Amino acid sequence: MSDHRRPRIPFSDAKRGTCRWCGEATLHEKGPKKGEVNRRRRWHDACVDSYNESDPREARRRVRRRDRGRCAACNLDTYALRRQQKGRGSHRRLRDLGFVPRRSLWELDHIVPLVDGGSHDLDNLQTLCTPCHKAKTVSEASERRERCSRSAEDDVIARADAALRKSEEMLAQLEAQH
Ligand SMILES: [Zn+2]
Ligand SMILES: [Zn+2]
Repeated sequence: MSDHRRPRIPFSDAKRGTCRWCGEATLHEKGPKKGEVNRRRRWHDACVDSYNESDPREARRRVRRRDRGRCAACNLDTYALRRQQKGRGSHRRLRDLGFVPRRSLWELDHIVPLVDGGSHDLDNLQTLCTPCHKAKTVSEASERRERCSRSAEDDVIARADAALRKSEEMLAQLEAQH
């Protein structure tokens, strides 16, 4: 079983002995009743894991446990920064550094973005402080724009090529007729 005491799978009306997540029977895994329906179990361990991985709050909890608020890009300890920035003027100082003072100073980042097929797996997740996350998001957006305009250009060239080939064929046909 993974690192949680109680599964957070929301209540469903799955009947006793079936899994709340996949709806299949829960079986005794060992002992004399192995293979029989276990009416005291309401989830499969694997289903709890897949449920947790599908929950963005759980992803954040796991990343916090692993990284403890340290930015993967600039190595800033955001919790230490929060502790240092207390009292008068702290919000202004945080804003000057590029943070949103009332929000967490770190953000959950998908190393390979979801739009590019990245997953919610822990090894595709990292901690970034807000300014680093902003910078990464901006550069990803401009890369994406670049890719799009490049493929739009390729499209135009391909269409021009096709039109050229077609007119050459037509010319050849005309010449063959005469
Ligand atoms: Zn299940
Ligand atoms: Zn950073």
